[in-house]
Amino acid sequence: TPVTTFAGQTVALFGLGGSGLATALALKEGGAYVIACDDNPAKMAEAEAKGVETADLRKADWSRFSSLVLSPGVPLTHPEPHWSAKSAKDAGVEIFGDIELFCRERAKIAPKAPFIAITGTNGKSTTTALIAHILRQAGYDVQLGGNIGTAILLLQPPSDSRVHVVECSSFQIDLAPSLAPTIGVHLNVSPDHLDRHGTMENYAAIKERLVAQSEKAIVGVDDAWSRSIAEACIAKGIDVTPVSTRRLNGFGFLTEGPRVLHVTSSGSIPVADLSDIPSLRGEHNAQNAAAAIAVAFAMGVSADDIQSSLRTFSGLPHRMEGVGRIGATLFINDSKATNADSTEKALKSFDNILWILGGKQKEGGITSLRPYFPKIRKAYLIGAASDEFAATLGDDVPSVRATTLDRAVEQAARDAAAMNAPAVVLLSPACASYDQFPNYEVRGNHFRELVKALPGINPTMG
Ligand code: ADP
Repeated sequence: TPVTTFAGQTVALFGLGGSGLATALALKEGGAYVIACDDNPAKMAEAEAKGVETADLRKADWSRFSSLVLSPGVPLTHPEPHWSAKSAKDAGVEIFGDIELFCRERAKIAPKAPFIAITGTNGKSTTTALIAHILRQAGYDVQLGGNIGTAILLLQPPSDSRVHVVECSSFQIDLAPSLAPTIGVHLNVSPDHLDRHGTMENYAAIKERLVAQSEKAIVGVDDAWSRSIAEACIAKGIDVTPVSTRRLNGFGFLTEGPRVLHVTSSGSIPVADLSDIPSLRGEHNAQNAAAAIAVAFAMGVSADDIQSSLRTFSGLPHRMEGVGRIGATLFINDSKATNADSTEKALKSFDNILWILGGKQKEGGITSLRPYFPKIRKAYLIGAASDEFAATLGDDVPSVRATTLDRAVEQAARDAAAMNAPAVVLLSPACASYDQFPNYEVRGNHFRELVKALPGINPTMG
């Protein structure tokens, strides 16, 4: 998408990671004069090679620039030590990110183009991917991106016959003052990223803006912060559809176990059943699915079409991803669970668990997971946290120090074969991966490869 709304202006750009470079090129293509900067000289060189002018913006004369475009990873709220945002702000330069550029371009070239934006502390990627999947199955031309996958300015330009389904992090909302989607989705708020956003009030206010500026808002109401976001939207006269996994005050979308109900003044109508859909296991996924279903309803997709598209949703890699089975034993890759909160979701969703965990542990360890210990048949400890986790598991859960993921998979598969009940071999580490792997994706991919190499493995989950 070329950005033409900055034609003729001089724009500074900081952060030349994937979306930064795409943004620089989109601005240039649209006729802006762009000067870009990055702390990493290799990124500067790469941008130069693509025809983007670079300079050390630390000493910039901000009176030359109309605006400063920041990559979402560059802090804004906390000015120091990030010189660029602060000195530019002091000089009265407007600061924003790539989502803002998209919004301005959309307002200019296709203001009615369907634009669905999704935020929340947890579940953004799953919900975004599921909305895109349902709409694609229903025949829409869908562009999926933003904080998930493709940078927004690398998508096809907005048009009336195309739907943009865009995941927005709080950083991106913070940098997009004119974000005003056709349908805004807010899932939940829990303490996260407070390092950047300062207080919970500030963090929740940023999340609120996405839905409060939407034509139609779909809001999860299972936590107190999100309930007050829904109330603020209603007070502003926004058309709000509440979503809950617990209870609703009146209408909306409600889940009861695996069933999703559409609650209206004339009663509750079941609209979907998630019980046979492995990629949508667990209460957290019920919230994600209910929000996605609410969007699909608002877009006019029928309940039958929604149900059949749910069945073909394969889920996202590394989030309770089924990677194979041997007889009745399922192998689940939940490598994205880098803390106890995330692992809790997985332990809640399964029984008879052979649990592979460990790595570089986070504060608090796994003590909060004690209530789920009775579901665990055996634990296979890997990485740096082994001693501490073995101590927490104590006598309640038999555990072995497998040390490596390779040995953990081998031992768990052997133990599963010896059990005479259906079991789940679950990689849900509750830890960062850095002690043994570059990141959680590499860890999860390695697990998938190990499982695929097991004798007798069936790669389908059904
Ligand atoms: P995000 O994009 O917001 O990080 P994902 O869809 O990638 O969210 O899910 C990441 C993890 O967050 C999951 O593995 C699960 O542990 C947890 N999670 C997903 N959806 C929810 C939800 N609706 N509520 C709470 N936790 C969730």
